[in-house]
Amino acid sequence: MNTGVFYSPVDYLSTVEYPTTKQGQPMSTLTIDRSPRPLGKNGISAFPIAYGCWRFAGTDVATARSKVDAALEVGIDLFDHADIYGCDGGGSFGDAEELFGRVLAEDPSLRDQMTIATKGGIVLGLPYDSSAAWIRQACEDSLRRLQIDVIDLYQIHRPDFLGHPAEVAATLVALKEEGKIREVGVSNYTTSQFRALQAHLPFPIATSQPEFSCWKHGALRDGMLDLCMETSTTPMAWSPFGGGIIGLTKDEAAQQENGDRLAAMIEALDAVANEQSVARSAVALAWVLAHPAGIIPIIGTQRTERIKESVQALDVQLDRTTWNNILIAAQGEPLP
Ligand code: NAP
Repeated sequence: MNTGVFYSPVDYLSTVEYPTTKQGQPMSTLTIDRSPRPLGKNGISAFPIAYGCWRFAGTDVATARSKVDAALEVGIDLFDHADIYGCDGGGSFGDAEELFGRVLAEDPSLRDQMTIATKGGIVLGLPYDSSAAWIRQACEDSLRRLQIDVIDLYQIHRPDFLGHPAEVAATLVALKEEGKIREVGVSNYTTSQFRALQAHLPFPIATSQPEFSCWKHGALRDGMLDLCMETSTTPMAWSPFGGGIIGLTKDEAAQQENGDRLAAMIEALDAVANEQSVARSAVALAWVLAHPAGIIPIIGTQRTERIKESVQALDVQLDRTTWNNILIAAQGEPLP
């Protein structure tokens, strides 16, 4: 992909005259819809930004509660878990769900204010198991740790090459019929793996969770976002801030692998951030939110102030040129 020649996105596009509306706004302005985004077609919806609990374990209940409160205060109502969260950072399998469950147990009124998503299917060392026995066990263990009666969105965390989609589907159908889960999602699936599972399900898959950010934008071209738009499936973007990499200074960025592209992308994000007096992270999130597939980015910060600030993204004004400039900088070559 890298041609060795770096085209400045600004030079590349600055010659284009774009028509404006009567209000003086470029006609190419992208609208970030602030209304709740549906999770698939079955009636559940959530705030456009979700809070992810991968890094959530390892604190006391009061600290955990402060993060949940910060999210709810600004409208974030979807909390994304996985049974495995807690293993990174010195903890154990189930720690994030267990801590979240203790928050809910202390104040059961919180449950009605939120949509709870979790995932199963990773087993340390195997590493994937989507067999009926494991998924059933994993789901029931998640319910117990989270101290809830039903999981609103149950996702298969990663595709298991040894799991026939018919068996995975049968397990999900049974869990739904038993009232243990409301909706079904997949994570890190390819488009063909998605279609194979969907073919065996009597209801639509509600969500698909790929990694997606302006830095890791493969889902633009691997077909997943197109498939989501084709099937009205809701994409949920994991690590929308590149796992923190988008927070680096330009000098730090330049030291990373593909540092020239990363530094150029950060410069492009900062140009918008400075012009609109918002945080760079808000522009990065806005870039994800502006995609027409109605993506719900899942933020992973552990700082309450950053959780609250994240909603600035909904006010960022992006037009087609700016959106494309950020992509062009990230990929290091112009769009053809
Ligand atoms: P992220 O929001 O891209 O990255 C979070 C990291 O970036 C944190 O370490 C955070 O540090 C740092 N950060 C955030 N804002 C920053 C800023 N303004 N400046 C500098 N650093 C900043 O998301 P993530 O935590 O990697 O993932 C989010 C969620 O996606 C997870 O919780 C999980 O729900 C989901 N996920 C799913 C999968 C999957 O396979 N399905 C994989 C990974 C993640 P601070 O805490 O200090 O702010």
